[in-house]
Amino acid sequence: MVSVTGNLFILSAPSGAGKSSLIKALLEQNNSSRAMQVSVSHTTRDARPGEENGVHYHFVSVDEFKAQIEQGAFYEHAEVFGNFYGTSEAAIDAQLAQGIDVFLDIDWQGAQQVRAKKPEVTTIFICPPSKQELENRLRGRGQDSDEVIAARMAKAQAECSHYHEFDYIIINDDFQQALSELNTIVNSKRLTQSQQAAQHQKLLADLVS
Ligand code: 5GP
Repeated sequence: MVSVTGNLFILSAPSGAGKSSLIKALLEQNNSSRAMQVSVSHTTRDARPGEENGVHYHFVSVDEFKAQIEQGAFYEHAEVFGNFYGTSEAAIDAQLAQGIDVFLDIDWQGAQQVRAKKPEVTTIFICPPSKQELENRLRGRGQDSDEVIAARMAKAQAECSHYHEFDYIIINDDFQQALSELNTIVNSKRLTQSQQAAQHQKLLADLVS
């Protein structure tokens, strides 16, 4: 029985660095051990093909989003590529209280806000192996226009300029290697003395009695 509070992780990266695929693979690999979930953000952008409301994002109008800001519903919120994105405070706190490790897939602005509220958060920055590879990956998606890709490439440079604010950096060149590095970070957090002591109270009490 897990009686420990969940760990909070932030993964940031320029769009196209492979962050979503890494999180998806991490969850698939770990679904039999301790629970982990990705936070579902609110956004005012339109859903892309294949994206489902409530699964990939909560898709809301600008008015709904602004009402939620006024209600103080967000841990953090930011404007990215002209759309608003935000992380629901109540949802995250409920998951952490249940011992679930929560992953926030958010940008550097959101990372700064969460870090200010929860200094214990573990922050990870994912880099592409090169600018050229980043552009190839963005074009490979086939979902965005040339104009959008050019804007995302320009934003990638700005996003990367914040790498030094993060606890860990993973270069996503070889996917399996990057996934293994991500697992290492998550596991090291789970194996800290405070986490292990909370999770194995009985054993540790027995060993010292
Ligand atoms: P996309 O529209 O491609 O899904 O995401 C665009 C960017 O918005 C990504 O860098 C993503 O990490 C960021 N993002 C997604 N959700 C949130 C959020 O809730 N808060 C913040 N600050 N950024 C977010």
